[in-house]
Amino acid sequence: MTDGTERGPRPFLVGTNLKMNQTPADSARFVADLARAVAGKHGAGSGVQLYVCPPFTSFPAVVGPARDAGMWVGAQNMHWAEEGAYTGEVSAAMLRALGIELVLIGHAERRRLFHETDPDLNKKVLAALDAGLRVLLCAGETAEEKGFGVGPETVARQLKIDLHGVDVAALPRLQVAYEPVWSIGAGGTPARPEDVTEIAVPIRATLRQLCGEAGEAVPILYGGSVDAGNAGSFTALPEIDGLLLGRSGWTADSFAAVLDAALRGRDGGG
Ligand code: PEP
Repeated sequence: MTDGTERGPRPFLVGTNLKMNQTPADSARFVADLARAVAGKHGAGSGVQLYVCPPFTSFPAVVGPARDAGMWVGAQNMHWAEEGAYTGEVSAAMLRALGIELVLIGHAERRRLFHETDPDLNKKVLAALDAGLRVLLCAGETAEEKGFGVGPETVARQLKIDLHGVDVAALPRLQVAYEPVWSIGAGGTPARPEDVTEIAVPIRATLRQLCGEAGEAVPILYGGSVDAGNAGSFTALPEIDGLLLGRSGWTADSFAAVLDAALRGRDGGG
């Protein structure tokens, strides 16, 4: 058994990306149900931080209740510019004005469906950190890249570009999620713990290379077809400091079951 402190001072983060699901009323119900389902399992002194990333339209309905429950509310995307002629986009300052704490940057769906490049993501990361947001930067290799054996260098390359120029002083607000493209979403193949270690180790090495010792403090999360059955096998890995959930985080009961399994894994209970 361990108390999780082998990971050092890094917090343990578990949260969900709700993607383009839920009306504001749905999100309000979800956050209220979730707050009840996870009460006593996170928050001050526990080392566990929960977060939810609903659609933009749900922010006014959930920011207050989530904050009261000790959860961060995150956006799923933002633009790098402060303002301007960018139809349909939202800036970091606009998110901050609504009380948003966190932003996902570089999710595989943004990269693939919306053609976001690593230089674009670098501009987003710098703008988000500059505005005082926390960033959850997603990186991961495709099935083809894994097949050719270039997963580690693919993800290292993503991080080197996405994090180029990040100020060490902003690192306490940075977290990285390893999300293999081949494992995300319906039809994804669940990863094995050894798949996760194979990439999480070079992620840590890259963070150290880019940020020196300060790179040790950046939490590395895992995401991709995580459920209550496999969550503990990922959080038992010494390289992994939490989870980014998709589908299994979309109901309060399922999220709570994954959280329980994740905490058992972290604490050595399998
Ligand atoms: C995701 O899309 O980031 C994700 C983790 O999805 P899922 O858990 O549904 O595979």
